[in-house]
Amino acid sequence: MMNLLKKQSSIGIGLLGLILLVSALFITYDDKVLWLSVSFVLMTFGSLVYFQTLYGHQLPGIKNDGVWFNALTTRGITAWLLGMGLTAFYIAIYWFPEVLGFNAQGESTGLVALFDPLSYTLNGSPATQWFMYGTLYTFAIILFGIKFIWKYRGNRYQLFRTLSVVFFQLCFAFLIPEILAKLNPETPYFAKDLKNMWPLNYYFLDEWHLTNMLTGGNLGLFFLLFGLAMIFIGSPVLTYFYGKRWYCSWVCGCGGLAETAGDPFRQLSSKKLSVWKLERWMIHAVLVFVTVTTIAAIWSFIKQNPELSLISSTQFVSGVVVLITALMLILFFWNKNGLEKDAKYTLISLGSILILSLCIQGFSGQNNLLFLNSYSFQKWYGFGVGAAFSGVLGVGFYPFLGSRVWCRFGCPMAAILGLQQRLFSRFRITTNGGQCISCGNCSAYCEMGIDVRAYAQRGENIVRSSCVGCGICSAVCPRGVLKLENDGLENRINSTPYPLGNAMEVDA
Ligand code: SF4
Ligand code: SF4
Repeated sequence: MMNLLKKQSSIGIGLLGLILLVSALFITYDDKVLWLSVSFVLMTFGSLVYFQTLYGHQLPGIKNDGVWFNALTTRGITAWLLGMGLTAFYIAIYWFPEVLGFNAQGESTGLVALFDPLSYTLNGSPATQWFMYGTLYTFAIILFGIKFIWKYRGNRYQLFRTLSVVFFQLCFAFLIPEILAKLNPETPYFAKDLKNMWPLNYYFLDEWHLTNMLTGGNLGLFFLLFGLAMIFIGSPVLTYFYGKRWYCSWVCGCGGLAETAGDPFRQLSSKKLSVWKLERWMIHAVLVFVTVTTIAAIWSFIKQNPELSLISSTQFVSGVVVLITALMLILFFWNKNGLEKDAKYTLISLGSILILSLCIQGFSGQNNLLFLNSYSFQKWYGFGVGAAFSGVLGVGFYPFLGSRVWCRFGCPMAAILGLQQRLFSRFRITTNGGQCISCGNCSAYCEMGIDVRAYAQRGENIVRSSCVGCGICSAVCPRGVLKLENDGLENRINSTPYPLGNAMEVDA
């Protein structure tokens, strides 16, 4: 009874903080510092007390009781309200920021203006809708990160992983870029989030962004070199050693929000084979889209800014052709069994079309490459994938489709890392099949929709390009069947079924 009362009052206090924040849409608060602080303190206090009532009295271990009987976590009425609220918020941020009070011409008002004091302190400028969003995003990751650690306490992997995503969001994505902006007020805008590399940061190699970095002094040059080093050296090396988890579950902000605030919705991801098929087509189509758009954008940049370019347009085209050919050769000769036939032939066909059009247009010196106007494609990519998919669908649909919709179906970064994880990485999840009792916990809580149990029952290693290495399948397994490991490349993919139970007697 006491616990129920405490639970309800804590929800009330947290909601009061949220209502205060939202009320800034309609009420102009003179003392912004006071009202912003009161709102954040109430939300933090209410949430912490609520988390305590949920997990404080429980022993370490699996805590998913009642998940399928709660309207919020089973697409009930509260899930719909939350989903619609989040979707409306994202639509306002991307396309109607004036609803939130943002004014590009002068002083902002409303909710955005409430963040002005914090914005002036950190970056020296008035708040924009993106600053407000970044603050709320970071706040959510910290707050729900605490909940996550509480829930999975006793599991060191989950503890360090969550501390890592909180650290990278708070420091690399939020504080450092804002403080750098304050210290360098004259420098033009360039990549703010230090850990968002191409292709997640799809505009990294766009003309305006390249120009800003190349003319942005030492800081601009640092961002350019850091970004390139991460794309071509840091990311492949880390993925080889640890799989895509080093990024998707330990560093990335999208993954950080999915793992913390999205944790209650992870069981909603579909495990159907047809959805797996759709996932593979969609995510690789986005990867092709962003690659083609970027190649065309760099081409336009080199043609229009020869004085800023280190290489000529012909050299660029030759380099891209060599790179694509090398990748296709590796796919065919070095690791010919790594990909399914349909995936391999689709990649080969697309690569060939790309090479052909690069050769025809690139070497004949046309202004547009790949038969497309790079600017309109960039615009469509930004609208369709960068905003609608990653933001509106990616987060707004947590309560309907699970927490990793974006990572699973649309993130080109996840696609690249996933291909490497499948083909050239030491990471795998090993399964001790003989211990599996087929309870299905692992499959139910896999946010990437992987039917983990099917692998465990056969004693087969899980080497899936979509696995983000969150380790939840292992954390919720009551029999200790699953283990996340890094080891040699040989025999990583062991699809031969492990002889279990009766099968052994039949064989004998
Ligand atoms: S298979 Fe396990 S580690 Fe991989 S994404 Fe699913 S739950 Fe996470
Ligand atoms: S691997 Fe573990 S969680 Fe998954 S079905 Fe088997 S016993 Fe259950």
